[in-house]
Amino acid sequence: MTTHDLRLIAREAPAPTDPVFEARHLIDGEWHMSTGTFTRESPAHGTLVTRAALGTKADTEAAITAARTAFDDGSWSELSGKERAAVLSKTADLIERDIDRIARLETLESGKPISQAKAEIEIAADLWRYSAALARTSVGETQNALGRDMLGMTLKEPIGVVSLITPWNFPFLIVSQKLPYALAAGCTCVVKPSELTSATTVVLGELLMEAGLPAGVLNIVLGYGMPVGEVMTSDPRVDMVSFTGSTGVGRAIVAATAPTLKKVALELGGKNPQVVFPDADLDAAADAIIFGIYFNAGECCNSGSRIIVHKDVVAPLTEKLTALSRKVAFGDPLHPDTQVGAIISDAHLEKIDGYVKGAVEDGAALALGGDTLPVAGLPGKFYAPTLVSGVTPDMAIATEEVFGPVLSILSFENFEEALGLVNGTEYGLSAGVWSQDMDTCLKFARHAQAGTVWTNTWMDGFAELPFGGVKQSGLGRELGRQAIEDYQEVKTVTMRIGATSRAPWVAG
Ligand code: NAD
Repeated sequence: MTTHDLRLIAREAPAPTDPVFEARHLIDGEWHMSTGTFTRESPAHGTLVTRAALGTKADTEAAITAARTAFDDGSWSELSGKERAAVLSKTADLIERDIDRIARLETLESGKPISQAKAEIEIAADLWRYSAALARTSVGETQNALGRDMLGMTLKEPIGVVSLITPWNFPFLIVSQKLPYALAAGCTCVVKPSELTSATTVVLGELLMEAGLPAGVLNIVLGYGMPVGEVMTSDPRVDMVSFTGSTGVGRAIVAATAPTLKKVALELGGKNPQVVFPDADLDAAADAIIFGIYFNAGECCNSGSRIIVHKDVVAPLTEKLTALSRKVAFGDPLHPDTQVGAIISDAHLEKIDGYVKGAVEDGAALALGGDTLPVAGLPGKFYAPTLVSGVTPDMAIATEEVFGPVLSILSFENFEEALGLVNGTEYGLSAGVWSQDMDTCLKFARHAQAGTVWTNTWMDGFAELPFGGVKQSGLGRELGRQAIEDYQEVKTVTMRIGATSRAPWVAG
């Protein structure tokens, strides 16, 4: 494609020469290598970033043993909420202290822009602080209306040993949506980051050790789904698995946990629609749609990857989207002005391109982009901002997760048709509506099958608000007050008090 009409940020500085990050497992408070290693190169610059210990079945079992022992001896689970909160708050302070180092590693491993990486680490620190508040305020209930001589109460107890498995697209943020809440509840954990982005989870482990977390409470094993993830999800000593990643692996995890009936929390994929009604503020909608599709190069579970636009405004909106796309800065993720960085891997780049080419073969049109993107001075993997118009519901690109900077544009004539398109995929993560009519927005919010609905905005998120999916987008909710509850069991204590009024069961 011609790139002269796009905003490209070439590599201006010399290629990064950061020392290679040596990532090791954290098991029972000690850092361990394995016999084997694996490496990760910057997807933008091609330079070696991380050499990591390659986790084995034995490493994973040792980590589970450490977590089980630490849970059962009560060294964390029986601390007061105040004591647990102190460690979580201190961790937030240390994350903020080390934000530049963490963000740089995150950018080098993932290809995301440095300004965005910094913002994500700041949000993550806030989640550690919020979970500290939950550690002190999570309470059970008392039931005082069971009769004169009865009193009931519920205890919130930590569920036990939790396996946390995370993906590559928001490595530090997603582990921070799980780990602080599990720790706040009093659980002990085994964590496996994606094999593509091990480094910042290891840094988080270092910070937790510095913050005073007892040995064995957090264990980190680096490596692949097989064998590390497989052992973490099948070992009978693990009580719960919390997973963020693809829907396919989510299904495999449910199957792996079935023989030992573990609790499972899943945050999976999405094909998130935004419906634009003719009375919408088209400028505001266009800006948010552009953010929603190019943020994190579209490698985002919440990517607003399809818009469903009323036929009367599809032409002017497409025109606005095309003009705005040309102004988004694609290029070197280390440059402070870059808004969209590199794609995570060659295989993923091919997958994105395959969806676009397939849609064109099926009759869709390219309003912009549709190809890989050369960026001067960088050997890496970039994909052009891409708008695919004339998409129809039967095309794969209309219903499957592309996970790239590729927007599908569909059109509709009435509310019912739009809703049918919104709910016509296997996913149900997020959905959005653009209209100045509150009735339209609320009707949409009540009928869209999604865990989150945004009205006249896209992808605003807060520690205070829960996040998760329905249908094939997941099970359970992260964030919000109830985030800690995912990692708790409720125990009912029923007490008969004082002289009993109950008639004896045995006559006599
Ligand atoms: P993935 O499913 O390929 O891998 C996720 C993690 O699972 C990695 O750590 C991987 O090593 C591990 N894994 C792979 N096979 C396993 C197995 N059999 N048992 C246990 N663990 C195994 O996902 P990905 O490619 O890293 O991430 C992209 C996907 O994540 C997308 O589908 C995206 O929508 C989803 N995602 C969802 C959310 C959300 O909150 N809903 C957030 C971010 C990403």
